[in-house]
Amino acid sequence: MLPAATADQIIADLVKPFSSAAQAETVPLQQAAGRILAEAIAGAQDIPQWDNSAMDGYAVRYADVQSASEATPQLLQVVETIPAGYRPQRAIATGEAARIFTGGMVPEGADTIVIQENVIQENTATPEASAEAAPTELNRVAVLAAEPSAFIRRQGAFYQAGQPLLAAGTLLGAPDIAVLATAQCSAVPVYRQPRVAILSTGNELVTPDQPLQPGQIVDSNQYALSALVAAAGAVPLPLGIVPDDPAQLKRTIAQALQQADVVLSTGGVSVGDYDYVDRILAELGAKIHVRAVAVKPGKPLTVATAGDQGSKLYFGLPGNPVSSLVGFWRFVQPALRKLSGRSGGWGPTFLPAIAQEELRAGGQRETYLWGRLTVTAEGYGFHLAAGSHSSGNLVNLSQTNALARVSQGETRVAAGQLVSVLKVGEI
Ligand code: AMP
Ligand code: MG
Repeated sequence: MLPAATADQIIADLVKPFSSAAQAETVPLQQAAGRILAEAIAGAQDIPQWDNSAMDGYAVRYADVQSASEATPQLLQVVETIPAGYRPQRAIATGEAARIFTGGMVPEGADTIVIQENVIQENTATPEASAEAAPTELNRVAVLAAEPSAFIRRQGAFYQAGQPLLAAGTLLGAPDIAVLATAQCSAVPVYRQPRVAILSTGNELVTPDQPLQPGQIVDSNQYALSALVAAAGAVPLPLGIVPDDPAQLKRTIAQALQQADVVLSTGGVSVGDYDYVDRILAELGAKIHVRAVAVKPGKPLTVATAGDQGSKLYFGLPGNPVSSLVGFWRFVQPALRKLSGRSGGWGPTFLPAIAQEELRAGGQRETYLWGRLTVTAEGYGFHLAAGSHSSGNLVNLSQTNALARVSQGETRVAAGQLVSVLKVGEI
């Protein structure tokens, strides 16, 4: 029985993350959110691409207005109006200004923007902003105050063309999508999504649409794991229920290893008379690296590699519904994230939370207790789910979003004490 941290390390070392062009595909930018960038991206244009105004106001020459104040306003002739999207037609000469709006190109000659609040218009005619043409009605303005080089977003201030913009291995979130759009990357090279075969073993299992005979139960694991696989950014391939029949199980596992990058099975990995998975894996030439971990729930855990250079990963999770999910969150999810080619952030993240109730554990294994993580004035709080913390009890696992960890060797976390919590759902 391996300590959880040892199993983490073994699994992390077994995973060979997607890294080559052969494991990449191109998707439209609209579909790139949540995917992993497969190539470093550099932009061909500076950001901003040209000097532009950060405010609505007037583009002026600072030398003309440096002495401007309420007492000594400086008069300037407005020679052009520059809305966003308009290319200035003329340079600003001494004594001149251009009406400019946020995002408008700073005209040649101008070196500062005076915000419109610091200007009095001399006549009442307000030039209309137009993207097509500069308005003809121009006027004079009195500038009351100015700062040198104010409110200009300089070309290249945020990014210089050719510099690295996003690295390979980046998990693409909304801000990254915005950056890719700005860099005019409309087809995005991303790693393909890992394919994860899921099978449930057990003579007692039926699908949810079947009437239950005595002794039968519904195969809930298949559905829960499919949901978790998809949420982890991988593609679930549900292979259904396989009875506890060695020949049939062997055929299905062999087929799963062919089709998928990762195979998840539940059930049949403990030491019961019908627990065949480890033996079948050995017969199929797989190498078994982990057989049990010191985690409760979820002690029986088979981790094996198969196929070319051990490129296929097999996780045999326990059949008990809570155990299989804890095993997924704790060990499978990090492996899937690492396999996806993500450069970081794939390990399990534990948050410190204040236990709202006393937490109890046996002490022999790292123990996970499910409940709700909430935000408090001090940070996070953890509320233990009411009801039985049996590994067979799915009912009180529902509506929880976190697993509190009581370390191996510890038997108690008092209410009010800090506890490490694995967040597994939305707060
Ligand atoms: P096993 O690991 O096969 O010994 O199964 C342990 C317990 O989990 C037994 O009570 C099984 O009936 C139950 N179980 C196994 N597989 C599933 C499944 N796919 N969905 C729900 N319960 C399961
Ligand atoms: Mg079973």
